[in-house]
Amino acid sequence: LASWEVHPEPTVLDFPTGRTGNGHFMVAAGPCGVESREQILAAARYVKQHGAQMLRGGAFKPRTSPYAFQGLGVEGLKLLAEARAETGLPVVTEVTSPDLVDLVAEYADVLQIGARNAQNFALLKAAGGSGKPVLLKRGMSMTLDEFLMAAEYVLSEGNPQVVLVERGIRTFEKATRFTLDVSAVPVLKSQTHLPVWIDPSHAAGTREYVTPLALAGIAAGADGIIVETHPNPGEAKSDAAQQLPEAAFADLMQAVRRLLPAVDKA
Ligand code: PEP
Ligand code: MN
Repeated sequence: LASWEVHPEPTVLDFPTGRTGNGHFMVAAGPCGVESREQILAAARYVKQHGAQMLRGGAFKPRTSPYAFQGLGVEGLKLLAEARAETGLPVVTEVTSPDLVDLVAEYADVLQIGARNAQNFALLKAAGGSGKPVLLKRGMSMTLDEFLMAAEYVLSEGNPQVVLVERGIRTFEKATRFTLDVSAVPVLKSQTHLPVWIDPSHAAGTREYVTPLALAGIAAGADGIIVETHPNPGEAKSDAAQQLPEAAFADLMQAVRRLLPAVDKA
């Protein structure tokens, strides 16, 4: 169902703030995790002000260590809904297990399935049945064929609204947290009508590399980016090193706006 043969028209997802796919570009931005009312509202206000079309923020966090911050759960979902009510930004947030899909879908506009759950087939099917658009991250050790098959689990539940996100894969290179596979963008786009996004934040792992990776992804033809930014990254409870402070996020948005017209004309 993801292939051009079955579906010869590019898939475009529509939101009140913008569209993604077929030449339409969107930015989703916000903190790694929702940490407090003040934090998420401040982030929502400035990401909107600087031109993002969607707010991100995890309420259920899939952490490598069970002792690390796990997210605010339902309270985080309520805070995201409050941020949406104030700013009008649609909200994307991660769902980490099939039994949470109904709950998260009550509050979120887009369900995120994370890299660590990208082959959790029960979760993919449940998200497919939710009727909400799904932002599916590539697993850190997944081939592109496996990634497309994961998307197929969502699509085959009757849900055509899937965004594929390249967020970096495991390689021998340690200078970045993961290695952004820029080739994934043109390769996926040659094989599927679905929108393809880049997550430069989790690939980089360090804030200084986030903007160059975002621009590389856009130059390669990405239909959107999802970026982490935090009002006070030094105090972040997860992914502190990679979250952009507001000023750097504003610079990223300017760089994106400068690049997009050049890409559209290419
Ligand atoms: C996230 O978006 O905060 C996240 C955990 O991403 P990934 O699943 O790509 O690691
Ligand atoms: Mn994160």
